Amino acid sequence: QLPGSPAAPRHSCENLGQGSFTKIYRGIKRDQEDSECHETEVLLKVMDSSHGNCSESFLEAASIMSQISHKHLVLLYGVSIKENSIMVQEYVRFGALDIYLKKNQSGGKVTASWKLEVSKQLAYALNFLEDKKIVHGNVSAKKVLLAREGDAASGSPPFIKLSDPGVSLTMLAKEMLIDRIPWVAPECISDPKNLALESDKWSFGATVWEIFSGGTMPTSALEPLLKLQFYQNSLQLPAPKWMELANLITQCMDYRPGWRPSFRAIIRDLNSLITSDYELLSDLSPSEL
Ligand code: ATP
Repeated sequence: QLPGSPAAPRHSCENLGQGSFTKIYRGIKRDQEDSECHETEVLLKVMDSSHGNCSESFLEAASIMSQISHKHLVLLYGVSIKENSIMVQEYVRFGALDIYLKKNQSGGKVTASWKLEVSKQLAYALNFLEDKKIVHGNVSAKKVLLAREGDAASGSPPFIKLSDPGVSLTMLAKEMLIDRIPWVAPECISDPKNLALESDKWSFGATVWEIFSGGTMPTSALEPLLKLQFYQNSLQLPAPKWMELANLITQCMDYRPGWRPSFRAIIRDLNSLITSDYELLSDLSPSEL
């Protein structure tokens, strides 16, 4: 239950669309402290009771998120388990990164340094989870929320927060799992019970690829059978021209889970990347990665 802070009354909620199992609303959380009333914008994920045992998995995700705290993980205020299951979390102003990237392809807001900074912050969040042996299981640019846009001109960096994983992939129908190719690790397609810490490294590699490409995956338009064949034939996403970045993505997206690097090693590699090398490549060939 929400600890002493009821979510906004229905009339003040704004419908923001939906996730796979949830309807998403923006609302206001009101806290009474002495004679003062504090209002905070919140995001509500409402899961219809018709989804049966997926609700349990949804609440489990909420429970895990509520027990941990990190500046790059979305803050969970609480859950309500009355008619429907509701997760109440902080409202992250600029929304999901996949949409943001697509909207801001041009205009100079999203530079190579910006993308590298976002990738590093995501790696920090996942390193924190790895240290605590917590598997996220649903890492993609859609789950990265942008709290601050940053400004390249004044040198202020962007700031991201990784969202909750939602319903565990072990509960998903096969079509939904296939739809998550290439973010979902191949071993989870063979058997979702293989979901482990290593799976997040694969997803991180795919997400970094997505961030640097501007938000569109080459597999998105493929029929489910072709998506499956992508993994069956052990294919890789096209290698970015920036060799050091390509190497890191290849290491993360290794078909052998045990060979993928730790997030500590990933952070070290990201910190050694110098964006001027990349910008030089982009100048030579703006249409390619
Ligand atoms: P899934 O479909 O993976 O099960 P879900 O049902 O939990 O996920 P999300 O994909 O996390 O739903 O959220 C749907 C959309 O709602 C996002 O793409 C984003 O635009 C918006 N959103 C989610 N969480 C937040 C937040 N905390 N602040 C602002 N917008 C958010």
